[in-house]
Amino acid sequence: MSKGKLIVFEGIDGSGKSTQIELLFQQIGTWVDKSRTFSSTLLGSKVEDILKKVKPSKEVEALLFAAARLECYRNVIKPCLNVGSTVICDRYLMDAYAYSCNSMTGVSDDYIYKINMNYRSPDITFLLDMDPRLSLDRLDRPKDHYEKEDFLKSVREQYLIMVASKELYFKDQNWIVLDGSQPVDVIQSLVWEEVEKIL
Ligand code: ADP
Repeated sequence: MSKGKLIVFEGIDGSGKSTQIELLFQQIGTWVDKSRTFSSTLLGSKVEDILKKVKPSKEVEALLFAAARLECYRNVIKPCLNVGSTVICDRYLMDAYAYSCNSMTGVSDDYIYKINMNYRSPDITFLLDMDPRLSLDRLDRPKDHYEKEDFLKSVREQYLIMVASKELYFKDQNWIVLDGSQPVDVIQSLVWEEVEKIL
């Protein structure tokens, strides 16, 4: 087991992940590494570019995300954990299930498991849970093809299924579910209460 702590924020688009990550980053100090799973490496940013131009099948999309995730895990997350840094991830592994295995996509959880094996479990996974109607209203920018209310409703449902499930693939996440529609400072205090326990 690596020495550093791994803190993950999951949730639908606009649920406040980046906001809380920035606040936690400031609170913890300078020895934290923030990793945005898909775009913090060159390969991850290229995958993001490709997916803006090409709409592959959901299975192929999941493979591209899995490649970006593994690149980030091997080259950023794991080395930082190994030297004892705290790593805060803007999504990690559960988003693969939430975005690819929900009621609107039909990719099996077994498939997602097989292409995303051997990741270290997080010390805490915060799920910022909220109604997509509210989270989409917060996004003051053009929406991408994931950012549709019906789709994000399925993603939210899948996140909640995983929290409630004892399935092999979803266990050991140490979920803490927070209501993402609360004021920023209220969520920040709830996050800190949990983070203090593990540092
Ligand atoms: P995400 O990273 O989950 O997509 P962001 O942190 O970027 O979400 O937040 C999306 C928008 O909502 C931003 O404009 C942010 O300032 C605002 N926001 C974040 N958290 C809250 C909150 N608790 N209440 C109201 N607005 C929020």
